[in-house]
Amino acid sequence: MNTLHRLDGRLHLEGVALDTLAERFGTPLYVYSKAALESAYQAYAQAFAKTPHLICYAVKANSSLAILNLFARLGAGFDIVSGGELMRVLAAGGDPGKIVFSGVGKTADEMRAALKAGILCFNVESVSELHRLNRVAGEEGRVAPVSFRVNPDVDPKTHPYISTGLKENKFGVPIGDAPALYRLAAGLPHLKITGIDCHIGSQLTDLSPLADAAKRVLALVDTLSKEGITLHHIDLGGGVGIRYNDETPPDLEAYGQTLAALFAGRHEKLLLEPGRSLVGNAGLLLTRVEYLKPGEDKNFAIVDAAMNDLMRPALYEAYHGIVAVNQKKAAPQRYDIVGPICETGDFIGFARDLAIDEGDLLAILSAGAYGMSMASNYNSRPRAAEILIDRNEIHVIRERETQKGLMAGERLI
Ligand SMILES: *Cc1c(COP(=O)(O)O)cnc(C)c1O
Repeated sequence: MNTLHRLDGRLHLEGVALDTLAERFGTPLYVYSKAALESAYQAYAQAFAKTPHLICYAVKANSSLAILNLFARLGAGFDIVSGGELMRVLAAGGDPGKIVFSGVGKTADEMRAALKAGILCFNVESVSELHRLNRVAGEEGRVAPVSFRVNPDVDPKTHPYISTGLKENKFGVPIGDAPALYRLAAGLPHLKITGIDCHIGSQLTDLSPLADAAKRVLALVDTLSKEGITLHHIDLGGGVGIRYNDETPPDLEAYGQTLAALFAGRHEKLLLEPGRSLVGNAGLLLTRVEYLKPGEDKNFAIVDAAMNDLMRPALYEAYHGIVAVNQKKAAPQRYDIVGPICETGDFIGFARDLAIDEGDLLAILSAGAYGMSMASNYNSRPRAAEILIDRNEIHVIRERETQKGLMAGERLI
């Protein structure tokens, strides 16, 4: 994140010193850079400029309204996975005609809401879902635009929990079954075939699985077209990785060139569904060191952020860079950075060398994606506030939850 920099030893995001934010708004605190969000989006727009395309931001990576609104103003479409995300995109000013609806478990109510909104298409993931969608569209007196999410069976070489394009995954329909399914869909009265979709996994650091998946999908599209089934768009999903530690993420320009070559002369529009790579490195989580707890084998730094604020370390053993907000001259010591939650899985990072004292601030980096959107209230912890920085301007885009608010919907018997 080049919008993150030090000035006289103090960590700044754009023009704002992070310690002043912690003083004003408390910790834990999510902080995002508008410039970093915009430049991540522009990098996609540039890399794929040669191919007619639509970037559908994967809302689940970070579904805060201000962030959705920012992408909507840049012209983005959206990839949603629930009725709640649909409501958010609409509330944030997103264009319903640029929404694709993914997910294996769409309810009839979610389908109805999306049909009424007039979304671009449903990415259908099973035969049962196809029949339900046809029925619901009929009841609503509408025609549902459909695309099948096919499973190209390529190994994305990523963490098993975020690998989605293998035969054994719950997602999509096997690519070999697709021709029969398209024929079936073509015969259903309340559906209109519009596209095809795949999404093979997340945090991919290698371009070749993405390119392999694209080739398999395009071959299928050509087979379908010989049968007279023509598509308006080909959606190749998200999944481009980011740098958390020492990864080398795929080069977007190279990905853009690969797809430009594959799409040359084709009439279908390219859709992409990036999530992490648009927001991940545009945000960080500020936390304060509550206690230092030296031990025989290890030292712990117990901070006020926890697995409920940032679940990725506990869920995937994910790595996040952790740096002191204010640099100190003292010699660094090695710490496990852990939260206050009563779970051994409540850690943020292991064996980090830091020069810190109790009361100091730490920045947990690359926390813009799957951070706040996965946050929970475990241990009755209110969720953090969110700040969006625009040069020297500070926008509170979400207030910190209150203890009282957490109890609001509860009743005694
Ligand atoms: C999660 C998801 C994405 C976004 O993945 P990233 O790795 O964050 O880019 C895109 N499409 C679908 C269907 C998803 O489930």
